[in-house]
Amino acid sequence: MINPRLLCDKHLLGEHGEIHKHRHNFEKKHRITRRISPVVQIEPENMENRHEVLVEEMIARGFNHKSPYTQPDLSYLKDVERFAKADLGISVTDLKNRCPECASRITSKYI
Ligand SMILES: [Zn+2]
Ligand SMILES: [Zn+2]
Repeated sequence: MINPRLLCDKHLLGEHGEIHKHRHNFEKKHRITRRISPVVQIEPENMENRHEVLVEEMIARGFNHKSPYTQPDLSYLKDVERFAKADLGISVTDLKNRCPECASRITSKYI
């Protein structure tokens, strides 16, 4: 979703950790209704790709990575959940409001 270069270290590592937590929940076949509605917060089908992109940026910043992500079985989800797409504008605004460091990265790179 958000270009990982715009994330501060804390949010880069935080999102990466969340992806692994979500994978655990997918394996347990947990419902994700509240992550999809009213606002799409996660993109289950896209998580493997997203994990790769985050890991590339983590390695570029000198962090270790030893936790491969393999796509879990998502067939138990409704299509509207499995293939959900987050709104990038909402995600960026939300992050800018929550984190001054991300906000300054986002602002300086957008100019
Ligand atoms: Zn990982
Ligand atoms: Zn941040």
